Amino acid sequence: MSDQGIDRRAFVGDLVAACLAAGGPVLLGMVRVAAAQGVGAGAYDPSAHDYGIGIDIAKCIGCARCVAACKAENDVPMEPHYFNTWIERYVLRTDGTVDVDSPNGGLDGFGPIESEGDVLRTFFVPKLCNHCANPPCVQVCPVGATFQSPDGVVLVDDSYCIGCRYCIQACPYGARYLHPEKHVAAKCTFCYHRLVKGLVPACVEVCPTGARVFGEVEKRATPLARFMRFNDIQVLKPNLNTKPKAYYANLDGEVR
Ligand code: SF4
Ligand code: SF4
Repeated sequence: MSDQGIDRRAFVGDLVAACLAAGGPVLLGMVRVAAAQGVGAGAYDPSAHDYGIGIDIAKCIGCARCVAACKAENDVPMEPHYFNTWIERYVLRTDGTVDVDSPNGGLDGFGPIESEGDVLRTFFVPKLCNHCANPPCVQVCPVGATFQSPDGVVLVDDSYCIGCRYCIQACPYGARYLHPEKHVAAKCTFCYHRLVKGLVPACVEVCPTGARVFGEVEKRATPLARFMRFNDIQVLKPNLNTKPKAYYANLDGEVR
């Protein structure tokens, strides 16, 4: 995940010195980002960004290329139950019942639907960490290992994480898991190692239908800002006041 050849300790030391000189909380945030993600000195300014992701339910075909790309890009364990992003299929029936399945996060493909005559509507819902602006996972971490970067991305510093699972229990979206080899909390980072190089997350890059849109929340010219302007946007579990930054278009009210 980290850039090759960076003397991480020396770089973080330089940034700490810069923080002390400037006394700015933003610079302190940069130190945390550098320590957690191995960002090169001067290569990236997280205070200049505010990232989010858009997902158009009407465009998702459930192919799960995003899931496969994410696993490969981020070294996510291949066993089922470990996902930074996954696809759920919703089947709404005329009697008001809703079936949800996600075989191996969508990687195993979605089988035929039973009792098709009763089906009102089916659709796929990509899910991932919502990079909440008010994240309960950050609030409960007893050692400050999980934190918000100044660019709005919620990250985990593996060197601080003690694997207590508090954040996993606190996340209302099921977006975290305990990494079976590293024994630290893991989750989507928006492919942070790509962001700092000006690239979009791997899931966005491989989506064949453009169902995933990445960009800046506020800057009007970016694809995400346009997506939010031209669609009726909803978020998951808005009543929890987590202020998610995964923005959905064409989301059915039955999605949990
Ligand atoms: Fe934290 Fe879960 Fe929100 Fe991601 S979706 S920021 S893991 S509470
Ligand atoms: Fe949906 Fe795109 Fe993921 Fe395929 S790659 S499952 S279309 S979001």
